[in-house]
Amino acid sequence: MSDETKYFLPEDRLPRQWYNLAADFPVPMPPHRHPATFQPLTADDLSAIFPRTLCEQELTTERWIDIPEPVREIYRLWRPSPLVRARRLEKALDTPAKIYFKNESVSPAGSHKPTTAVAQAFYNKAEGTRRLTTETGAGQWGCSLAFAGEVFGLEVEVYMVKVSYEQKPYRRALMETYGATCIPSPSTLTESGRQILARNPDTSGSLGIAISEAVEMAVQRDDTHYALGSVLNHVCIHQSLIGLEAMAQMEMAGDEPDIVIGCAGGGSNLAGIAAPYVREKINGRNVRIIGVEPASCPTLSKGRYAYDFGDTAQLTPLLMMKTLGATFIPPGSHSGGLRYHGMAPMVSHMHDLGYLEVQAYPQTACFEAAVQFARAEGILPAPESSHAIRAAINEALRCKEEGTEKTILFNLSGHGHLDMSAYMDFFSGKMSDPEFDTAQLAQALSDLPEVGV
Ligand SMILES: *Cc1c(COP(=O)(O)O)cnc(C)c1O
Repeated sequence: MSDETKYFLPEDRLPRQWYNLAADFPVPMPPHRHPATFQPLTADDLSAIFPRTLCEQELTTERWIDIPEPVREIYRLWRPSPLVRARRLEKALDTPAKIYFKNESVSPAGSHKPTTAVAQAFYNKAEGTRRLTTETGAGQWGCSLAFAGEVFGLEVEVYMVKVSYEQKPYRRALMETYGATCIPSPSTLTESGRQILARNPDTSGSLGIAISEAVEMAVQRDDTHYALGSVLNHVCIHQSLIGLEAMAQMEMAGDEPDIVIGCAGGGSNLAGIAAPYVREKINGRNVRIIGVEPASCPTLSKGRYAYDFGDTAQLTPLLMMKTLGATFIPPGSHSGGLRYHGMAPMVSHMHDLGYLEVQAYPQTACFEAAVQFARAEGILPAPESSHAIRAAINEALRCKEEGTEKTILFNLSGHGHLDMSAYMDFFSGKMSDPEFDTAQLAQALSDLPEVGV
């Protein structure tokens, strides 16, 4: 057993291939379907908005996918990311448990998201795309794609939900620093934006509207593609690097996790840290995998497993996923990155097959955990990541009660340096725990598309 605090893999051990969990499920994942015909989706169906290679990655069941060398070269700016043994947190909790975290906050944009953004920008550039459009809520994804676009010489246009555009000027400034254009959504640049503004000039916008604007712009122009920061299979595949590196680093530590934890918004960082461990679980190893979501947007705990659209405007393919319904509007919270109605098909399938446990927490309980973590380990977590920390601390406290020495691994998906207003709310006692509207959820679930398969 090692007594180190941080475990670094040398750059030459940065994985050369991504891992695709879809290859190892004992029951195949249900296919994405075409919204008009309900037929299983083909790469051609996706090619209007994504480059060919990403369309193929979206549908493949190949187990290992080579990482192009120019992508590995950019990854080396921050990957392999460190694995840290949270010794001071263990001491503060007085627990016999061992707590490790994978630190994804060290990336250029401060979260796990650049790991897929760089890959997506590379394939677009390689296939002749000149411009990328995307949406962003709180701005984490917009910043990640802005950085990746700059690296590969692509123009990036980000539709940012208007309320966030106004409330989070620093994330907008970071996108502009990386050379992207950031537009408050709804805008007058798109037909969908103009229609919504005509009906409701004062709207504060939503992720659903912003997706519609970004997709519309991508479909219209031959030189433009769209990029998505979570949910889809190719995004989860890219994020497998988190788990692959963590597994090698746990080996350096001479330890193996009994519990693996990630927060779950669209599901990509959870899929990333969990994928190689789910593979072991499928092969009989005893490891608990826990996804943690906000009580205000409980997609895995309260959603239905059904075909649904990825966006409110119904422009995307139908995805088989845990969903609260594409028309469901989660209440506002400080974890913008976890406020999504659906869950990655890969994570949903994991859950359906019984490989994934779920926990849901209100945000104040998560901020308490975040502050405890910051005081012990020095790193200020993103509000999203605080959900994983809450679960990790609870499991460590249970070990203390039961006198068991479990090994816990969680993913620190990002830092919270641009979320200080959330911390200020917490410290001033202004933070509340928003509850979702149960009648609206029932309505959204009954609005789910009928799929005549
Ligand atoms: C976007 C984001 C998330 C949620 O996205 P997933 O796709 O569920 O991983 C979690 N943490 C941070 C820091 C984020 O920026």
